[in-house]
This record gives sequence, C-alpha cells and structure tokens, in this order.
Amino acid sequence: TKWVYRFGNGTAEGKREMRNLLGGKGANLAEMSNIGLPVPPGFTISTEVCTHYYDNGKTYPAELEDQVAQGLKAVEEIVGTKFGDAANPLLVSVRSGARVSMPGMMDTVLNLGLNDETVEGLARESGDRRFALDSYRRFIQMYGNVVLGVEHFLFEEKLEDVKDETGAVLDTELSADHLADLIERYKAVVQEELGTAFPQDPQEQLWGAIGAVFSSWQTHRAITYRKLHDIPEAWGTAVNVQAMVFGNMGQDCATGVAFTRDPSTGENTFYGEYLVNAQGEDVVAGIRTPQHLTIAGKQAQGSDLPAMEEVMPEVFGQLCDVRTLLENHYRDMQDIEFTVQKDKLYMLQTRSGKRTSQAAIRIACEMVDEGLISQQEAVMRVEPQSLDQILHPRLDPKAARDVISKGLPASPGAASGVVVFSADEAEKRAQAGDKVMLVRIETSPEDIHGMHAAEGILTTRGGMTSHAAVVARGMGRACVAGAGEIRIDYKAGTFTVRGETVSEGDWITIDGSTGEVMKGRVPTVQPELSGDFARIMEWADAERRMAVRANAETPEDVATARKFGAEGIGLCRTEHMFFDGDRILAVREMILASDEDGRRAALAKILPMQRGDFEEIFDIMKGLPVTIRLLDPPLHEFLPRETDEFEEIAKDLGVDPAKIMARAAQLHESNPMLGHRGCRLLNSYPEICEMQARAIFEAAVAMEKKSGEAVLCEVMIPLVSVKKELDLLRAVIIDTAKAVAEETGTEPKYTIGTMIELPRAALRAGEIAESAEFFSFGTNDLTQTTFGLSRDDSANFLTDYERRGILEHDPFQTLDQDGVGELISIAAERGRKTRPGIKLGICGEHGGDPNSISFCESQNLDYVSCSPFRVPIARLAAAQAAI
Ligand code: PEP
Ligand code: MG
Repeated sequence: TKWVYRFGNGTAEGKREMRNLLGGKGANLAEMSNIGLPVPPGFTISTEVCTHYYDNGKTYPAELEDQVAQGLKAVEEIVGTKFGDAANPLLVSVRSGARVSMPGMMDTVLNLGLNDETVEGLARESGDRRFALDSYRRFIQMYGNVVLGVEHFLFEEKLEDVKDETGAVLDTELSADHLADLIERYKAVVQEELGTAFPQDPQEQLWGAIGAVFSSWQTHRAITYRKLHDIPEAWGTAVNVQAMVFGNMGQDCATGVAFTRDPSTGENTFYGEYLVNAQGEDVVAGIRTPQHLTIAGKQAQGSDLPAMEEVMPEVFGQLCDVRTLLENHYRDMQDIEFTVQKDKLYMLQTRSGKRTSQAAIRIACEMVDEGLISQQEAVMRVEPQSLDQILHPRLDPKAARDVISKGLPASPGAASGVVVFSADEAEKRAQAGDKVMLVRIETSPEDIHGMHAAEGILTTRGGMTSHAAVVARGMGRACVAGAGEIRIDYKAGTFTVRGETVSEGDWITIDGSTGEVMKGRVPTVQPELSGDFARIMEWADAERRMAVRANAETPEDVATARKFGAEGIGLCRTEHMFFDGDRILAVREMILASDEDGRRAALAKILPMQRGDFEEIFDIMKGLPVTIRLLDPPLHEFLPRETDEFEEIAKDLGVDPAKIMARAAQLHESNPMLGHRGCRLLNSYPEICEMQARAIFEAAVAMEKKSGEAVLCEVMIPLVSVKKELDLLRAVIIDTAKAVAEETGTEPKYTIGTMIELPRAALRAGEIAESAEFFSFGTNDLTQTTFGLSRDDSANFLTDYERRGILEHDPFQTLDQDGVGELISIAAERGRKTRPGIKLGICGEHGGDPNSISFCESQNLDYVSCSPFRVPIARLAAAQAAI
C-alpha cells in the first residue's frame, strides 16, 4: 500500500482532488507543486495511516518506515543536504492537516532535525551563529511543548530569566551566547519535567512529531471541535513533512500571509502582511507590527512602515504572479502563506479564504463577471446564515466597544438606545423621539408595543425561542436574550453586571448577532440590499424548488417580508393583533364575560378591527397566499400580572377589581403551554373561531370586490392532536363562510388546514388529512413536546448540554432531524397517502435555519416560512438545498 505522497521540484504524487487522502494542506501543497509554484519539497503521510494507527492499537503499517525514509531521501536530493548531517543538516517542519482545518489539533513543529551537533553545522552554513542558536531554542520550546507535553510557561519563565539577567527587553536583543545559555536551561527543563533528556536523534525527533500529530486527532479539544462541526472521526489527519525555508536569515528574508482579494470588502485587491527577517509564528504572535504588502494597502491604513512592494519589488512581482495563477487555477479567493529566503520566494500554503458575507457576495458576483465561475457556483459560494450580517445594521467595525456582558445572539443586528425597563416607558420615550433599549427579565405578549417602539431588546432570561427572541426576529429588532449575569432591579430602575450599575436613561448598545452588550453608543452602518446582493438572490431563485413565505402579522412586518421576497404568509399569528391599542380592552371584556352572550358582545367589538388587519395584509400581499392561524395562546396571557394593573382595568371596564382577580385566578394554569390553548380553547368558545373566520372572509370578499382579484386565504387551526378537534372547528368555519357568501353575494376562496405541532398529530396525520387541506409543521411546539423540553426555560442548561456534547445543537434553533424530523417524515408520508398532493410547509423558527431547510427539501415540502428578515437566508438556503 502507498502511504506516503511526495511533492516538490515542479511535480507531485498527489493533487488537489485528493483532499480526503492527503488533508487540505497536503493536497494543496501537491497542487501548487504540480502547477509549478515554488514549494519547498516534502511529503504527506496520508490520512489512512491515521485510521490504521487507531484501528491497530496505535501502531503504523509495516511499510511506513521505509516509505518515510524514501520520502526523506527524495527531499535530501532536491535540497542537497542530509537529515542529521552534522556539517550541513536538512531541517524539516512537521504539520498536521485534516480534510478541513481543525483548531484543537497539533499545529506545527519547525526546525526539526536540530541538535547539539547539527546546530553548529547550521551556524557555519548560514554564516550566522545567532540565527542557528535561536532556531534551536525555538525548536526545543516548540517540540518540548507540542510533542513532549512540557508546559509552555516553563520555557517562557527561562526566557524571561535570561532577559532579566542580561537586561534585554526584546528577544532580539539576546546575543548568541545568551541563547546558548538559554538552550541549556531549556534542556534542563525537559530533563526535570520528563526525567529524560531532550531527544538528540533526528529520526527519534521525526517519529516523535509524527506520533504527536496522530495522537492529537484524539485529544479532548479535537473531539469536541469535531462534534460541534459535524466532522466524522473516521476522516483522520494527514502529516506533512517539508524542508524548512527560513524567513529569519537576514534582511533579504521575510515571511507573510495574504488574501488574493480583500476578505472584508471583497474588493479585487491584493491584501496581506509580511515581516522582514522573521519566522511564520512571529507574524501571528503580534510581537512586531506587520507591514503591508502593497503601497495602496499601506496608504489605506495610514501606516509609515514600508510595503513589500517597495522593499522587495522583484519578489513582490513574483508573488503577484502567484496570486493570479492561484485564483485562475482554484477559481476562488485564496488565503496564502509564503516565505522569502535570501530573495527567493517559497509558497507554504494555499486554501480557500474565509471572508465576510459582504465580501463573499461581491467576490462571487465579480468572479461570474470575470468568467471564472457559473451563476450556480456563485449561489453555492455564499453562506446563507452569513446574510444575517448584512440584512441588519451592524456595528461599525472601526468603532471602539466597551463590552459589559454577553447573552444569546437572539435576533441579529446592532442597536443603541437609552435603557428603559417597561414597555409603556419604551413607548412613551419613543414617542417623545428617544431611541430606547427595552431591558426586561423576560417579555410577554403585553410588551409588544414596547418592543415595537424600541430599537432593541435585552432580556436576562429565556432562550432562542423565548417570546423576546421570536418576536424580535419577526419584527427585525435586535435582541440579546438570556444575558444571565445581568441583575435587574425594576424598583430602583437599574441593572448591575460585573460590578457596574446602569441606570434608566443611560445609553447601551447590543449586538444581536454576537450577543454582546456594550456601554454607551457604538456607531452602526446600514445594510445595502441592491447590487450584488440582488443579483445573487435572483440567481438563487432560479435554482429553488420550495417556496419561501414569511411569519408576519403587522402591516409593517408583512411589507418587510414582501420587500425581502416572501411569496406568501405562512403564519399570521392572530393573537399578536389582540394586544394593539384599545382592542386589549375588548379582549379582556370577552375573557371576563360570564356567558356566551357576554363574550359575543365583546367579540363584536373586536371583529371590525380584525377585519381591518386582514384587509391590510391581503392588500400588501396582492393575491399571494396568506395562512391565518386562529387564536393560539391560553387566555390568561391577555390578563395583567401586577395588582395595580388590575385596578386600572377594572376602572376601564367598569367592574369590580375583585371580579377580575377571581377570573384571573380561575384561568391560571400550572402548565399553560400544555393547557387550555389553541383548538382546545376554540372548541370551548367556538364563538371566537366564528368571529375570526368572519373577519377573514369579510376581509377577503371586500378585497376581491376592490381589486377584482380573488384572495386565497388559508385558515389554520393550531394545536390539534385529535381529528375531531379539527372537524368541529372546520364545521364552524364552513358555516361562517356560507353566511358571509349569502350576506355579500361573493363566495370566499379558502382552504382549511392544521398545524402539526404535537407528536400525536404527526402520528395520526393519516386521518387528520381527511379534514385538513394543508399541514404546517409548527416545529417550535413539536420540538418542545417531542423532547418534553420547555422552549421558554431550557436555554440555561441547553448551552451546557451543547458544551458537553449531549446535544449537538440547540434543537429549538436547528431541527432535530433524528427525532422531530422522523415525526415530520411520518406525518408527511401518512398525510400524502390520505390526500395526495396535500400542501406541506413549516412555520416554526426552523423554517429560517439553513440546515433545517435542507431537511425540508429532502422531505419535499412545498414551502418554508420564517421571520421576514430571514426570508433572503431561506431563499438562498432553499436554492442550495435544491442544487
Ligand atoms: C410552532 O409551534 O412552531 C409555531 C409556529 O407556533 P408558535 O411559535 O406560535 O407556538
Ligand atoms: Mg405553536
């Protein structure tokens, strides 16, 4: 079996397509060598050796030793030096390289092959004794740490000791003799810690490093990282052994990193940094200020340090050629590492470069224009989730931030405002022209007006599907939820965190994309939705199979949804309309009524208001389908919580406060989410269903008369678990439609369907489909009830569950495909069997999550529905799922 693949001197045994076998780094080193780029020669030990190693009690295949020896010999021949040769030693680097880059694993050992003898040879050959000794002490430190496991700080202490004793401030001030002294101290550290001497035999060093790379595949950190990023254990890592080149041999040497295009804006300019006379780690370590590659880059950043373009014009020119060649070859923006040794350029790495979403979009579009990639490829180049960064205002990246706490990134975007602690205060101050930040322990439906008035919302309790998070996402307000360190004192009008106190009226800023909470007012920049963004979305729409709808109910949100390209409303939560302005009074009157007549009287007041809402929505959606869900939450959500509020309401309604309190007590449930809500409530009070159906149909008929075009309304019943629950309400709705038809002379066009949000409904979908013309998967409740996990209270320990790998993701954010997903599959299959072609969609928060959207595509759903601001994300994700 072949275990070792060589590269260098313009050829290679591997190539870029062999990433699985050679790892990302190895495959690209081979590829660069193949296309004639100057790559120091070396070889890659394949990932199959890693697999073999773990399958066979941590032993290597028999042929490996010989193949490594052959590989080393080939390198020696190309370079003209010998590994372990005291006179003129070959030194190598050893690096890990999995299929995808993986922090948490052993990274790099440089200068391997140095010992007490070879260091003298290196000193003579390079003519620089200080350089040789510095390389040796760096090697002992690196190898001692990553291979032998001696703690880094033990070496750092010795370095500090020598600096103190000699009065040196910078490492570079140490002389050759100081370094020789330091080397002895380093060796003593190893002897003391391990009870054995630092290995002097280069072969032993090499195999030690190879073993360390393979062992690092199973470190705790690596395992955790793999879990979090869905990287299979079976992939294994490769090991790259490569001849050293030195960027630290004098002023004609350098090392640097670059991106072939600007990774933050996407502009087609060469963007990078370098350091003269330095080794790779110095650029990263931040000890010296790196210099810009180009004169333009230097000017843009106002730097005084000379650019590479000025200092090494010839090598810079070669590097520019490499840039063009790599981009044309890989057809993507590359992130490269290079070293210049005595005015000769060497390429050490290339890989596809990480970029901001803004840059990803611009690069994809410009590469289409340049003829490098197709439109379909461009669609695949943009990470849907990352669109979040550009659909909302974001913090000015140049601005300073004073972070005081962190919560969950519940609704993206950045916002600043003065702190207020109640929804009423938020509304009052906003009306007076202030920008406000609503800070609450948690929010409830009665806070909606304040949330609307606020720039952003900060809560100290609750998770990603808490009320605050869901509503904020729907409204496009920035929200940080569950910032558990913050203690709110409503009475004092302050909150405290990490010893700081913030008072009502103080400015704070939140970043709903990172969860950060900052003091003061941090400037933001606005999103740009035309141009390249619009082009990518258009190309995505051409690829997409599923429709994308929005969850929205206020005219403002519905309009936003349209603007972002929603093709219908997938969920209009009518209860949100019950809180607006005066209508909460009528709603409370209905709840307090002692009999049906009383309720009907109150409902009659609500009817025209609901009808008005629906007319507005139909008007904005212009004939696109609108799914309206009948009342879902338990009634007590509409009653106040605080005692003084009861008095106020009693006065408004002209009744005895005691009566209101008694009714509230009567409605109280210990487990309201599993209680008297949804279709259960509607079956107890069918007059509510009747009023809502009437409002919908009257609005539809009115719109049809006005526009001449029929409105397609889809009436949706929530929380069904038994077919009969649906049947009874269906009859009420049909009767109401007939009545409206008789009264108006126009027959409303509608369908009746149900949410599937309880496990029993999913299992009994076959019979439920006899009465339902569509299903909409309410995966928020379906997740809650499948796991038996409260969507409002589980955030705290779910974070811990994720950290410990008990759950890979928060199931309220990313659909649990194994469990909840199986219920969806079952429901889809059984529903379709009863009613072929039944319309299926999803309207839980997962409808805007790319991972979950790809699952929906696999189930052949007809549409996904999500918050208005996630519509573009869903359009792109649905397109990628279909490609
Ligand atoms: C759901 O349960 O997934 C759903 C969409 O309904 P709600 O979030 O309003 O309970
Ligand atoms: Mg629900």
